Amino acid sequence: MELHLDPKIQILFYLVTVVCFVFGLKMLTSPRTARRGNLLSGIGMLVAICTALFSFGVVDYTTILIVFVVGSAIGAVLAYAIDLRAIPQMVAILNGFGGAVSALVGVAELNSVMEKGISTLSADMQRTPSLFFGAVGVDTFIGTLTFWGSMIAFAKLQGLISEKAFSLPFKNVINSLLLLGTVVLTALLTLNASDPGNPINLTYLIGILVLATLLGLTLTMAVGGADMPIIIALFISYAGLSAGALGFTNLNYGLIMVGALVGASGLILTATMAKAINRNFWGIILGNITPPTMVVAGADDIYAGRIKSTSAEEFAMILEAANSVCIVPGYGLAVAQAQGTCRDLYNELTADGKQVTFAIHPVAGRMPGHMNVLLAEVDIPYDKLLELDDSNAFLGDCDVAIILGANDVVNPLARTAKDTPIYGMPILDVDKARTVLVIKRSLSPGFSGIPNPLFINDNTLMLFKDAKPALAEMVKAYRER
Ligand code: NDP
Repeated sequence: MELHLDPKIQILFYLVTVVCFVFGLKMLTSPRTARRGNLLSGIGMLVAICTALFSFGVVDYTTILIVFVVGSAIGAVLAYAIDLRAIPQMVAILNGFGGAVSALVGVAELNSVMEKGISTLSADMQRTPSLFFGAVGVDTFIGTLTFWGSMIAFAKLQGLISEKAFSLPFKNVINSLLLLGTVVLTALLTLNASDPGNPINLTYLIGILVLATLLGLTLTMAVGGADMPIIIALFISYAGLSAGALGFTNLNYGLIMVGALVGASGLILTATMAKAINRNFWGIILGNITPPTMVVAGADDIYAGRIKSTSAEEFAMILEAANSVCIVPGYGLAVAQAQGTCRDLYNELTADGKQVTFAIHPVAGRMPGHMNVLLAEVDIPYDKLLELDDSNAFLGDCDVAIILGANDVVNPLARTAKDTPIYGMPILDVDKARTVLVIKRSLSPGFSGIPNPLFINDNTLMLFKDAKPALAEMVKAYRER
C-alpha cells in the first residue's frame, strides 16, 4: 500500500504534535490538569507516529501494525503492573531504550545509504550529505551513551550492582579523551563519507559506538546512589537530543522539534535538580556529580545512647497541643505505602482546626515529584504542599514537624560536613520546629548512607516502626484521646 503525505502537510501535523506536547507539559504542572496533559501528549505522539507512517510512500503496514500492537501491549502492562517505588528504574530503562532506538535507526539509515547509495536520501539531504553523516555520528554517540548510562543507572537503582560511586583514577582526563575521540571520529566520518567518490568507512562508526559505550559506563559508574536523580534527568535530555539528531539524518521535522523539546526540558530539569542539591551544572555535564570521598563519624559515635524514643500515644498527645504541624514525607512513605494513613492523620488534625502543611523537598523519594504523586493519589489538597523555601519559612514558626520516612533531606550534616555526598544540599530546616517527631523503622541511614545527627537533637523524638502501622496507631490514639 502506498500513502504519501505532502511534505507541507507533514510539517503541519508535526507542528500539531509539538503544540500538543507543549500544552501537555504545561498541564502536567498541576495535578488537576495532569491527566488531561498526559492524554494530550499521548494524542500528540499518535499524530507524530501516523504522520511518519504516511510520509515514506511504500511501507509494510502489516509488520508495523504487529509491532505497534505488541509495543503498546508491553507499555500498557508495564504501566499498570509497575510498583510506584520502581518508577525511577522504569524511567531509566525507557530513557535507555529511547537512546538505543535513536542509535540503531541512525546505523540503519547509514546502512541503507551504503547499500543503495546517496540517492536513497531526500533531495534536500542529497545536496548536503555532510549534514546526514554528521547527524548519524552525533545520533549514534548520544544514543549509545544514553543507553549504556541508563542501563547502569537502572542496575544501581534496582540494587543489581552496588550503588556506590566508582571513579576511575584520572576520570576527568579519561572522559575528556573519550569525548574528544568521538568528536574526531564524527568529523572523520563526515569528511570521509561526504565525498561520493569515497567508500563509507565503517571503522569510524564502530569507533564512535565503542567510545560512547565506554563514556556511558564511566560517567554513570562514577555516580553514587544519592545523585541518581541528576543523572536520570540528564539522560532524559540526552534521549531527546539523540532523537533530535536522528531527525537531521532524514530531515524529519517532527523528530527535530520533539527532540529539541525533550532535550531542553531534560536540561532544565537537570539544572533544577543540580540547584536543589547544590551541585555545579557544568560539572554535572562533564561527569563530576558525586564528590570523591566521604569521611563521617560512624553511626555509633553519633547516636551513642542519645536517642529518645516515644510511643504513638505520646505522639498523639503532642499533636493535641500543637496548632501548626508540618509533615515531611520521604522515601519511607513510598516504601510503606502509607499515603492513605497519612491522609487520615491530615483529616483528623485539620478537622480540629490545626494548620497542617506538607514540606516537599525536590529530591525527596527516588524521583522528581515522587512525593507530589503519592500525596495527590490520596487527594491531599495541592495548596498544602509547600516547596523548599516556603516549607522552611513555615518550619521556623511551627509547633511540630513529623518526619515520615525521610532522612537525607532533613540531615543537618548537609550544612557542615564537607566530605559527605549531601554537603551543600539545601535541606528542610525541621530542627527549627519546636518538636520533631521522626517515624522510621531503625537507625539505618538514608540513600546517601550517612548517619543523621537530627535524631539526637533535644527536641527530637523517634518512633521506630513501619510508617503505615505507626500512623494508624497515632490516628487511633488521637481519636481516642
Ligand atoms: P532517604 O533515602 O534519605 O531515607 C528514607 C528513610 O526511610 C530511611 O532512612 C529508612 O529508614 C526509612 N524507611 C524505609 N522504609 C520505611 C518504612 N516502611 N517505614 C518507615 N520508614 C521507612 O529518603 P529521603 O526521601 O529523605 O531522601 C531521598 C534520597 O534519595 C536523597 O539522598 C536523594 O538524593 C536520593 N534520590 C532521590 C531521587 C529523586 O529524584 N527524588 C532519585 C534517586 C535518589 P529505616 O530503614 O530505618 O526505616
